Amino acid sequence: MSRQDQIVRPLSEVAYYIERCPHLSVRDYPESLRFPSMLILGIETSCDETGIALYHSERGLLAHALHTQIAMHQEYGGVVPELASRDHIRRVLPLIRQVMREAGVAFAELDAIAYTQGPGLAGALLVGTSIANALAFALDIPALGIHHLEGHLLSPLLASNPPKFPFVALLVSGGHTQLMRVAAVGEYELLGETVDDAAGEAFDKTAQLLGLGYPGGPALAQLAGQGKAGTHKLPRPMLEQMRKTGNLDFSFSGLKTAVLLLVRREAPDAAGKADIAASFQEAVVDVLVTKSLYALERTGLSQLVVAGGVGANRRLRERLDGAAAEAGYTVFYPEYEFCTDNGAMIALAGALRLGAGSVGASLRPERSPLGGLANMPAAQRTYAFTVKPRWDLSTMIL
Ligand code: ADP
Ligand code: MG
Repeated sequence: MSRQDQIVRPLSEVAYYIERCPHLSVRDYPESLRFPSMLILGIETSCDETGIALYHSERGLLAHALHTQIAMHQEYGGVVPELASRDHIRRVLPLIRQVMREAGVAFAELDAIAYTQGPGLAGALLVGTSIANALAFALDIPALGIHHLEGHLLSPLLASNPPKFPFVALLVSGGHTQLMRVAAVGEYELLGETVDDAAGEAFDKTAQLLGLGYPGGPALAQLAGQGKAGTHKLPRPMLEQMRKTGNLDFSFSGLKTAVLLLVRREAPDAAGKADIAASFQEAVVDVLVTKSLYALERTGLSQLVVAGGVGANRRLRERLDGAAAEAGYTVFYPEYEFCTDNGAMIALAGALRLGAGSVGASLRPERSPLGGLANMPAAQRTYAFTVKPRWDLSTMIL
């Protein structure tokens, strides 16, 4: 089996997910369960990564490409929104041409374009959104706005051993930390979220305190590997509340402050910094693991899906796998390359939504089983668009 065969999941194989969505219009149009053959271009430009991918409903992921702006933002210690937007403008068309070339497909073969509509940086989102809509208008195909976190949530479906609905999702990225109950595509219930910093943000800020630069998450994790986690007793924020009241929210800013005070007090050398990094990582991982297991227990579900950049953290994976195995749960992760922002998860989310019938009616008339462009909602037909820099996933309906 080639590497590509292992990481892609044709939509036809995840058809059973759709069948189980009680509210989907696919129930009224059983013929759409046959999944019209669809080729979707995915465009992700919500923050500091330009991600482009081509997903085919029957052949799976055909090609994907990513340009990360990390080097550009490094000297500022964080993402500079205006620079991010300008760089997306430079990258997005060459990357689109690159994936089309790699997949050997022509623009005329595209059936729809899925793009990240929010949440994220307004200017950055506008680049992907306007290019997606302009291209879709020119090609006379639908453009479909995707919620960035929905992309992350569904990204484990690209892996060789995907979860089945329903499952609990732990979304841990630079901008979000959430536990969700995922009943089906488009059916998301928020169980808990961070009240201040996101887990990735806490990793990045703590890394900065230790002089590790930006983005610090991976560097801090690497340093932690050389330290002793038991050296410093750092707080496990909001674990007590969970035990008392069942609260599944998170808070990481106090932990970051505790590290700040520790660094000021100890002025650590390299080995001391490694111990602080290990102690910090262990505290974050402890909280994430304990709350994820409690969420599984409370919902009565047995599958946990971990998505977002912090999901790449090896210690988190190790501890989650251990705890889950002991309790009889299964944990699913996206491939490492699909943990952080990427176009593949956006193209997949677009394919699932189109396949689920939510906008099935808006496929090309000659290809759609449901009637084609004539049935497209007015907004899609006119290609008028907006971005949603702040967008609550749990308010989404299919
Ligand atoms: P966002 O879309 O919110 O920017 P991503 O899903 O792209 O977030 O993930 C980026 C975040 O993941 C950053 O905060 C980064 O530091 C963190 N991250 C990446 N790899 C690791 C790791 N191995 N350990 C901890 N954090 C990590
Ligand atoms: Mg992200």
